[in-house]
Amino acid sequence: MSDTSKDFKSVGLSKPMLENLKSLGYFKMTPIQEKGLPFILSNRDFIGQANTGSGKTAAFALGILAKLDLTNHMPQALVLVPTRELAEQVAGEIRRLGRFTSNIKVLTISGGVEEHHKIKSLRQGAHIVVGTPGRITKLLKTGVLITCDLKVLVLDEADRLLEMGTVAEINHIASFTPTDRQTMLFSATFPNGIKTLSASLQEDAAQVTIDSQHQTGTIKQLFFKVENEKNDALLRLLAHYCPQSCIIFCNSRETCNKVAGLLRTKKIDSLQIHSDLEQQERTLILIKFDNKSCRIMVATDLASRGLDVKNVSMVINYDLPSDHELYVHRIGRTGRAGQEGIALSLYTHQERAILRTIGEYLKIDCATMDLNSLKKFKDIVMRPFMSTIYISGGRKDNIRPGDILGALTKDAGLKPEEVGKIHILEVNSYAAISHDRLEHAIGHLNAGKIKGKKFRVGKA
Ligand code: AMP
Repeated sequence: MSDTSKDFKSVGLSKPMLENLKSLGYFKMTPIQEKGLPFILSNRDFIGQANTGSGKTAAFALGILAKLDLTNHMPQALVLVPTRELAEQVAGEIRRLGRFTSNIKVLTISGGVEEHHKIKSLRQGAHIVVGTPGRITKLLKTGVLITCDLKVLVLDEADRLLEMGTVAEINHIASFTPTDRQTMLFSATFPNGIKTLSASLQEDAAQVTIDSQHQTGTIKQLFFKVENEKNDALLRLLAHYCPQSCIIFCNSRETCNKVAGLLRTKKIDSLQIHSDLEQQERTLILIKFDNKSCRIMVATDLASRGLDVKNVSMVINYDLPSDHELYVHRIGRTGRAGQEGIALSLYTHQERAILRTIGEYLKIDCATMDLNSLKKFKDIVMRPFMSTIYISGGRKDNIRPGDILGALTKDAGLKPEEVGKIHILEVNSYAAISHDRLEHAIGHLNAGKIKGKKFRVGKA
């Protein structure tokens, strides 16, 4: 973020909210927050044109949190998102931003095996519901989700919501909610469907657009021309830059397999993510990448949109994507919220037309770098920093990250720096542990208790 960005004080958030933002390391507002929050906090309907990585979740989440009545346990905000992953991610961000008070209940409703727990939780009360349209419609129709006290409706990644459903479906959901609600719509692109949606759901909406050039401003972009064979070039990039964490994007699943195979032959650990995986497998892969148990993720474009994988230091385009918007989405996985990032792209003679389009779109000079200027690779050592353990208890057991951290540091005697990220899901949890303490941690947790209860613990 630029030095001239304003801090959150200027939009008039409460003192506890400001203190919590500081503790999260959110010192300055991102452009969508700076331009959008004055409208959002004044209850205006709002359209934000911004990609993931822009800080848009916090923009609408702070708006929701500022007007929540915690004494009322009926849902007061409904956030519609296109995928389960995004639902978890958005709910996580709202929970973090809501830490200034202890009893905000945020529930995700997006299908899957844990659904019956969610319905039970919903019946017990929730302030904010985040979910996918199909599931939300079902619960509205069956009367499990009651929205008469709803103050805010958010359509997040509205362009993707419409790729999966119709304007009529979203309108149907909105018809269950009070007409005097605030409606916020966020979308990276503005096809006609979005305009129709806005016209039917919003009144006098304020619109803020954050352009793609602005969003990629902190990402260093380098382009490498290769003849035909990209494998050697890829290994050179890894050897030279040795990134802390890296997503390698390919255009097809077959190429992902090929790249993962290549890395295996060089004894470099990688995870692969694509749409054919089961939901649970995908969640675990993202957790392992996020908590530093694996430094390289090989992905199709599925992972380039929506997913908030934090602190990816580098993105490599093994193939250039088929269009410039996809390129922006991909490289936006690094350089999140104004941090610096680096995006490297390999391209062949056949791919130069798309390279030209990218350059024109982003108004950048895609100058070609010479691969020979990089180190010749011998052995590439990219050992992951952590390992992941699985714990058979989660949110439904009221487990919080502090409970697991306490069990690991106080009971099992690990040093705080030997414990990495902790992810709490509905029925289970994952924690990152430094390699040499893995067996010790598993042994202690299996023998002991977390929050007074026994759980199964193992290597994930
Ligand atoms: P989003 O565009 O909502 O997916 O957010 C991208 C990332 O930026 C998330 O990891 C947020 O936690 C982070 N973030 C959002 N706002 C800020 C801020 N003002 N300062 C620092 N990080 C932020």
